[in-house]
Amino acid sequence: MLRSVILAAARSARVAHLVETAPVSREVVRRFVAGQRTSDALKVTKDLVGDGLKVTLDYLGEDTLTTEQAERTRDEYVKLLGELQDAGLAGDAEVSVKISAVGQRFDPKMAEANARAICAAATSAGTTVTIDMEDHTTTDATLDLIGRLRTEFPGTGAVLQAYLRRTEADCRELAKEGQRVRLCKGAYKEPESVAYQAKLDVDKSYVRCMNVLMSGPGYPMLATHDPRLVAIGEDRAKWFDRAPDEFEFQMLYGIRPDEQLRLAAEGYAVRVYVPYGDQWYGYLMRRLAERPANVAFFMRALTSTK
Ligand SMILES: Cc1cc2nc3c(=O)[nH]c(=O)nc-3n(C[C@H](O)[C@H](O)[C@H](O)COP(=O)(O)OP(=O)(O)OC[C@H]3O[C@@H](n4cnc5c(N)ncnc54)[C@H](O)[C@@H]3O)c2cc1C
Repeated sequence: MLRSVILAAARSARVAHLVETAPVSREVVRRFVAGQRTSDALKVTKDLVGDGLKVTLDYLGEDTLTTEQAERTRDEYVKLLGELQDAGLAGDAEVSVKISAVGQRFDPKMAEANARAICAAATSAGTTVTIDMEDHTTTDATLDLIGRLRTEFPGTGAVLQAYLRRTEADCRELAKEGQRVRLCKGAYKEPESVAYQAKLDVDKSYVRCMNVLMSGPGYPMLATHDPRLVAIGEDRAKWFDRAPDEFEFQMLYGIRPDEQLRLAAEGYAVRVYVPYGDQWYGYLMRRLAERPANVAFFMRALTSTK
């Protein structure tokens, strides 16, 4: 119920304006978002890499509606990738891109050209791109696009969402040599016809999908904060005898940071998904919807005068 209310608020322009202009303490947004500028993203990346973690950077913005906005997003990624290379961070940091942020909703051809430009910049910087997955109406188009990008940029990563009923089959399709596949639960509100609704069913699907990916020849990226699923991931790594460079755990910036460090200290590759940019509102609302306890945390900050 609370999740639906928050997701509805996330879509409301009036609520967005209210929250964006409220005296939100910097610290609250900063818990989940690296900052607004490229330099903020680089600083957080440097700190995380210094702690033995890997990073994937997300320039915030989705549902882009103009060519100019899509091109600005593309240019920001290209600039960021150049700066990661110059800072010697490209070996440990890649980027995550939403196709809707580079124009998929209104000009799929342009979106593909923009995605290709970002992949080319990543390749020349010595790193990779993972294409985030959005709501289920975009799954086929996104997977098709990734298939085309991979012919030129084989390191391009895909994301599969365990809450979708189709995902176990998609995992079988993508569990191939050299394929980087991020497995997450899924962050959008989806109808029962396409997605499991109960947490237990989503978790069971996650385990089935993880089994397919971890037993196959590809490169699984297990994106979850769920303690039970992380433990099963560790178990499967031993079971399937996967070396630390043959898969990775992924978590969001600001969520379970101690667990990120614990896994890294155990010798696992751990990548932190770090969002930055001024379009933080939609991202933050999704994080709140995932975990109602964060609402109290956020409201306290909203009413704080600090
Ligand atoms: C690296 C990464 C990339 C992602 N990319 C995508 C994508 O491309 N497309 C997409 O649809 N979704 C994406 N997601 C989001 C994902 O689908 C889930 O919505 C999100 O990760 C929450 O699910 P969970 O597996 O952490 O488990 P949950 O069932 O949400 O949580 C399990 C437990 O984890 C801890 N926890 C979870 N969230 C929080 C929090 N906010 N604060 C504190 N503790 C918390 C709690 O202990 C909780 O009980 C991504 C997630 C990650 C980590």
